[in-house]
Amino acid sequence: MDKMDLWNKASSLRKELESDMTSPIDVFALAYTIKNKNLSIVYYPMGENLSGICIKGINNSVIAVNSSMTMGRQRFSMAHELYHLFFDDDNLTAICAATIGVGCKKEKQADQFASYLLMPPNALSGMIKHLKESGSGKLSIKDIVSLEQYFGVSRQAILYRLLDENEISHNEADKMRQNVIKSAINLGFEDALYRPTPKDKQYGTYGFYIQQAEKALEQGLITSGKYEELLLSAFRADLVYGEECEGGEVLD
Ligand SMILES: [Zn+2]
Repeated sequence: MDKMDLWNKASSLRKELESDMTSPIDVFALAYTIKNKNLSIVYYPMGENLSGICIKGINNSVIAVNSSMTMGRQRFSMAHELYHLFFDDDNLTAICAATIGVGCKKEKQADQFASYLLMPPNALSGMIKHLKESGSGKLSIKDIVSLEQYFGVSRQAILYRLLDENEISHNEADKMRQNVIKSAINLGFEDALYRPTPKDKQYGTYGFYIQQAEKALEQGLITSGKYEELLLSAFRADLVYGEECEGGEVLD
């Protein structure tokens, strides 16, 4: 695998999305700002085996993320699907596994790309150096939690990367796969990164699809009944019934 090429691709996407080369990124917020791809983003619980799907059409594209996985993993999944969207010319449709680092060449490349996009090599190595110097010279479980919290990635994602960088052994990684939530909350962190999206919020469609439905209604191309049908089939009852205004708007 040409890792330098994958980092170049990750850094070029960071540049395109107007992010710097070292900071942690809000990959969901950045995905919503992508121009020229007519991208719709769907959140959908896909069970235990899939992490996400990318479908590239001539006029529009869809990225679907498995919302029953943890928030940290969903961030990695979105970054992985961005590889398919921008750089995978072989697949118009990519259906991606839940386990990181498995599958065909393109799947492994997409995982490495996602890892670089979320954890730029210089930023990660700088943090590792600092943590090792201020500790015992080896990465502890506390250091692992600090790294995953800083970059906003799952335990699976950080261990995969640290194994790849020879910063931890397989034996150490196996131990760190246990008691993930407990290890973080005992150190004073919130557990949101390690939890799935709440069940009642796991379904939703955003981006191009919603914009198109609005536009079609505005231009009189569809009836308001059809508009509502389109939104309801995209799991956006909140837009039809105005659930988002419950309790009134807050401007702060
Ligand atoms: Zn994939």
